[in-house]
Amino acid sequence: MENFTGKFIVIDGTDGSGKTTQFNFLIETLKARGYAVEIADFPQYNTKSAGLVEEYLSGKYGSADEVNPKISSIFYACDRYDASFKIRQWLQEGKIVVSNRYVSANMGHQGAKIPDPEKRKEFFDWLYDLEYNLFGIPQPNLSIILHVDSKIAQQLAQQRQREDWVGKTKDIHEENLEHLIHAEQTYLEIAKYPNFKLIECTHNGQIMSREEIQRAVWQEVEQLIQPKQISTTENKDGWIEVICGCMFSGKSTEAAKRITKELISKNREILIFVPQESSREITLSESNTSINTSGKLVSRNGKIFSAIEFPKDQPSAILQYLESQNRPITTVVIEEAHFCHFSLVQVCKKLAEDYKLRVIVVGLDQTFDDEGFGPVPALMVEAEFVTKELAVCVECGSQTANKSWLDKNAREQLEGKILVGDSQYVALCRHCKNKFKKQNQL
Ligand SMILES: [Zn+2]
Repeated sequence: MENFTGKFIVIDGTDGSGKTTQFNFLIETLKARGYAVEIADFPQYNTKSAGLVEEYLSGKYGSADEVNPKISSIFYACDRYDASFKIRQWLQEGKIVVSNRYVSANMGHQGAKIPDPEKRKEFFDWLYDLEYNLFGIPQPNLSIILHVDSKIAQQLAQQRQREDWVGKTKDIHEENLEHLIHAEQTYLEIAKYPNFKLIECTHNGQIMSREEIQRAVWQEVEQLIQPKQISTTENKDGWIEVICGCMFSGKSTEAAKRITKELISKNREILIFVPQESSREITLSESNTSINTSGKLVSRNGKIFSAIEFPKDQPSAILQYLESQNRPITTVVIEEAHFCHFSLVQVCKKLAEDYKLRVIVVGLDQTFDDEGFGPVPALMVEAEFVTKELAVCVECGSQTANKSWLDKNAREQLEGKILVGDSQYVALCRHCKNKFKKQNQL
């Protein structure tokens, strides 16, 4: 099984179990809790890769029983192969992918055509090999199988309107009660496979309420995605430190000092994060050489630490990364925090409060227009410790420079972009900046 930072959850089940309702509910719940969620839905109706599936379901090749289960399985497998590229990408990005049906649907529906349990087992093995080895599609971390008694299911199916597939109200599988019963038995069998969870949706011959099923689904998902206990119980940490200041004030140098101490301390485990989009060339002060900051925390005095990149608009990826770690972490450093989405404040609070970590946030406190920069001012309010570094004013030599300045040329070059080489910035004191502003009529 490939190792992704993201999580892959499949909702499947016998017909009439309310898969789609539960699928939508799960997506909404995850989004509401701040997770980055992507959706897969099979078959991918009205796309080329589902063409043969649609023909098969319409009965063009005969009734369900007339089509060899391996042949129809291949139709579905091709459709999943088509989607596997984007699914793999999402999982690599640390997202939670929720899929409406997956390989389990082939197992359930096609396996149901094979009455002999041993032959069925052989078919499952063949199918696993086809989908996961030959087509190489990602394997789910959790497949939830919703189970409804087949007789209740058929009554429900008759009432149901298919919204996503304009054709007959019932497809060739649903038409056949016998097939439904076999599929039910097969689904109960596959629910015993690793990473499968069976959820009963009926109680005393009655379908359970939507809310009751939702609770059961969420319980399973929560176990998968909830943060593991990553701090030791004796960990006394759990606070936020902000290191801020203007360009050239030595923020990263201060961060490097704290990181170095962490690295030489016993029982400390540190992770450094940097937004992907913040990479740029910076010049080291002593050697006067230039270095690209991509995937690194670089201080101008030449300290370089490798860092984990995350999308700036999605700071919750930091939490997801932490959850994927199997070792106890004590300290998290977030560099270039000013570029991040405002939700970084919530993420830092969670790191300090729920995970009890030492959180060190590094960033510019002001834009070159003297406005608060991104989430940094709010983080200063939230933090226990705030260190504001000052630079030397390039104009008058005062040691109180707290303003970054970008000249007119550089500003025009900037046009909508957020980054320029740091050689175009200078640090100024308040008074010299006012002078420059007047000269430039800003
Ligand atoms: Zn000055």
